[in-house]
Amino acid sequence: MKAALLFAFVAVAVTNPQGQTLSSKATQLGQMSLITGHAVTEGWAYQWLEKLTDTVGGRVTGSPQSRVASELILQTLKDNGYGSAHFEEFPIASRWQRGPAVGRVIAPADAEIRIGPFGWTPGTDRRIEATVIDFGKPTMIGLPEPHSRFKDAAVIVEPYQLGANPTQLMRAVVARQLAQGGAVAMLIPSDKPGRMLYTSAFGFYPHGALPVLSIAMEDTAYMRRLLAKGPVKISLEVQNSFDASPSQERNVVADLEGTDPRSMVIVGAHFDSWDYAQGADDNGSGIAALLDAARILRASGVKPKATIRFVFFGGEEQGELGSRAYVKQHRDELPNVRMFFAMDSGAEAPVGFLVHSREDYLSTLRETLAPLVRLGASKVHAQASLDTDDVTYMLAGVPSMRLDVEEGTYDVRHHALTDTLDHVDAKALGIDTAVVACAALLLADAEDPPARFMPEPETRELIRKVGLEPALLTLFGEILPQ
Ligand SMILES: [Zn+2]
Repeated sequence: MKAALLFAFVAVAVTNPQGQTLSSKATQLGQMSLITGHAVTEGWAYQWLEKLTDTVGGRVTGSPQSRVASELILQTLKDNGYGSAHFEEFPIASRWQRGPAVGRVIAPADAEIRIGPFGWTPGTDRRIEATVIDFGKPTMIGLPEPHSRFKDAAVIVEPYQLGANPTQLMRAVVARQLAQGGAVAMLIPSDKPGRMLYTSAFGFYPHGALPVLSIAMEDTAYMRRLLAKGPVKISLEVQNSFDASPSQERNVVADLEGTDPRSMVIVGAHFDSWDYAQGADDNGSGIAALLDAARILRASGVKPKATIRFVFFGGEEQGELGSRAYVKQHRDELPNVRMFFAMDSGAEAPVGFLVHSREDYLSTLRETLAPLVRLGASKVHAQASLDTDDVTYMLAGVPSMRLDVEEGTYDVRHHALTDTLDHVDAKALGIDTAVVACAALLLADAEDPPARFMPEPETRELIRKVGLEPALLTLFGEILPQ
């Protein structure tokens, strides 16, 4: 019923009162207005997100919840006019499950400390005792030699971004060195308030080298006060488990067919999440926005020039596994992709679009997406970070971008206990949904694609120029997804 109604609205909008077709610019603006109005006033992204968060919950890659989420996404697409929506499977090297994690200071005092494992890192299996060493912040990639001085110690390290080297790289390198040196655990102080912990598997999948534990900010401060007066011993008991038997994850793919079968815009978001909470904003909100955008575009009856493909990725949190599988499985089609557009920044008010490294299309992209300025999405910057799926496409030569939003409290909730539905702003999610749908349509309908496919040698040169080689080699084992 809703679908028919929306279709009728669009039909009215593209003709004037005398029934004449309006100019294409007026048609475009009419479409934008209707899509935006519908997303904001009648959109169901928030309601769908409630279903995802409250009935499925956290969706760790390889878990039953991840499977249920993919099925819910597929069914939603089929129910909304995407009859040919389907799964595309890819193998994962291991599955991982978090177990209980207990930490205590045992000397010179006795007190519990809040710890939680990073994903895809091993546990201690049994209760162990260790002396604490506080290394602080590395000022180079990794730790100075000899690493054997960390033997049998639990080492506090804060491996944060250093120049072009992202936190994930710093963390992964330090973990490997500590394991080689014989350390029993790496303790990374959480930067979140309220004794909240952080988790991530980036750089650890498929099997971290030693137990890597997030430790509450307050408990780090406590241990540092003790360390200032003398040696500190702690006990750790962490029980994670791995399963390396063959298993598959999946992407969910659905097309809104365009009139030019050779041209495509891909809009993507990952549906896997972390397990401390519901994965409401990372990235349930992105999935909900994409699904509602897909529904609205289908129901509006628009026939874009390029096909708009919606891809819902699995396995992003382990290192963009789903998008990397996609670019390998669809290698031949990639030169026809006008733009890959990722939604993975949380549901705050839109501010614009971020591009990774490719400065060559910033101005044409700004022009193409100019109608979205009034929704707040006015800035187009080459400032994207390395940690989500648009980077995979950039590395594969495909022009890519991601939605940039106001900061809000996303970073506090990111991968933490408070990534729950009640923190998601329904109004902002509606506006984000409108931006996703409108941007996809603007990109698909543009007379000329706003950017060009970048051949492999040129991409390699770009990666070298921006200094990304060490991070890519450490995190993915290769510079370009091959
Ligand atoms: Zn995410």
